[in-house]
Amino acid sequence: MNLFLPEEVLNACRILAHNKKESYVVGGGIRDLILGMAPQDWDLATDAHPREVERIFKRKGYKVIPTGIKYGTVTVHINGVSLEITTFRKEADYTDYRRPSKVKFVTNIEDDLSRRDFTVNALAYDPLRSLLCDPYHGLADLKKEMIRAVRDAEERFIEDPLRMLRAVRFSAELGFSIDQKTKHAIIRNVELLSKISAERVREELDRVLMAVHFFKGLEAMQELGLLFVIFPELKEGWLFAQYHPSHQYTVLTHTIEAMRYTPADLTVRLAVLLHDVAKPRCYSRGEDGRGHFYGHNVLGSEMAEEILRRLCYSNRVIKDVVTLIREHMLELRMGPAGQRRLVARVGRRLIPQLLQVRLADIMAHSQSQLVRSWEEYKQFTAKLEETLKTGGDFALRELAVNGTDIIEEAGVTPGPLVGVVLRKLWDEVLEDPEKNNRVYLLSQAKKIITTLNNHG
Ligand code: ATP
Ligand code: MG
Repeated sequence: MNLFLPEEVLNACRILAHNKKESYVVGGGIRDLILGMAPQDWDLATDAHPREVERIFKRKGYKVIPTGIKYGTVTVHINGVSLEITTFRKEADYTDYRRPSKVKFVTNIEDDLSRRDFTVNALAYDPLRSLLCDPYHGLADLKKEMIRAVRDAEERFIEDPLRMLRAVRFSAELGFSIDQKTKHAIIRNVELLSKISAERVREELDRVLMAVHFFKGLEAMQELGLLFVIFPELKEGWLFAQYHPSHQYTVLTHTIEAMRYTPADLTVRLAVLLHDVAKPRCYSRGEDGRGHFYGHNVLGSEMAEEILRRLCYSNRVIKDVVTLIREHMLELRMGPAGQRRLVARVGRRLIPQLLQVRLADIMAHSQSQLVRSWEEYKQFTAKLEETLKTGGDFALRELAVNGTDIIEEAGVTPGPLVGVVLRKLWDEVLEDPEKNNRVYLLSQAKKIITTLNNHG
């Protein structure tokens, strides 16, 4: 087999060969190359020990970083191309379900490939001899578009449960199916994923959520039970009927359906995934027989905060997702004043994402409501565009007077009252932007103070 590799990769292999060392291109690089995709990064496997690799490339004047010497990995930079060079190895000691605490260096590529997760990732290519080493028939699986565990699936997943989520991630990135035996091994061992550190889970989850075939990945996560291990709260909505004409689906099915209509934006996808998480806890049945979920947006935003903290998301992502969930009920028939209040609460930056969340939610409602909701949505966004043109962020700081003005010119005593007055003024201005002028606001501030004083 002849594969075209960048000169820098070939160069690294030639340098190692010159030092009587074997080297193979392995992992995602070779997989993506065979698939005709542009590899993101390059991994090499060699029989040279990490310290030798370091010495060989340093001697040649290349920049070498001992990225993970303990695990046998050294990063070499050649003409701006970064190569991860790892000594043939096998992991030992998986007892804590984390990264192997020990690795054992081995002398041949077959042993190295035997510890890899999936057959399509267990291909090695020697570019100097144009030889493909494929003991687990990864090439056939690439052709069949199949993710299959190397050797015994159950053993692979017990060694490192994160591989179960990686199976879904590769399936979502490549659009491949997961082999039946591999699937069954995931279903049987799915609970082990809870032993994996939140950061590692989150990294793979994010890749599923952002993958080209993310919906396939999401469905696989649900089918295999991974979704409920990561988000046990979502299980509450499973088979939860809504008894409402707006909804033809159960809570969880509605959520998954809504995900179909999300753009590739992590914040939006997390918000849609969790937007109805609190519905089961907020359920009540009205006298008319309809199901109601009062307050599920507020409780949902609180639950989402806890869930996302547990998964170690950044404060920024958490804050945005929480806001989007709190506001996801967005009343589409609101007028301009309501829209200004909305922008003041949410912030202009997050508005496009809120609209995406709302639209995804609408799309997964009952078919019978769709035409009407879509019309309302279109009219709402057109009006909102007009509203947004008329101002900045509609934030309190844009008020034509500030705290000092209120104290010095309207005679308000410094203290919490200043804030109360400012917010009342701001509320008036959101209702009618014409009122945002100093003279009016100062006289109004005096009136507010008098009223407040009269009421003790
Ligand atoms: P990408 O770079 O697109 O994420 P990749 O296949 O290179 O895809 P990496 O996570 O970079 O994935 O890992 C490189 C290779 O190392 C994999 O192809 C696989 O052979 C092996 N590997 C990585 N993580 C594991 C794991 N947890 N268990 C077994 N093998 C693994
Ligand atoms: Mg890689």
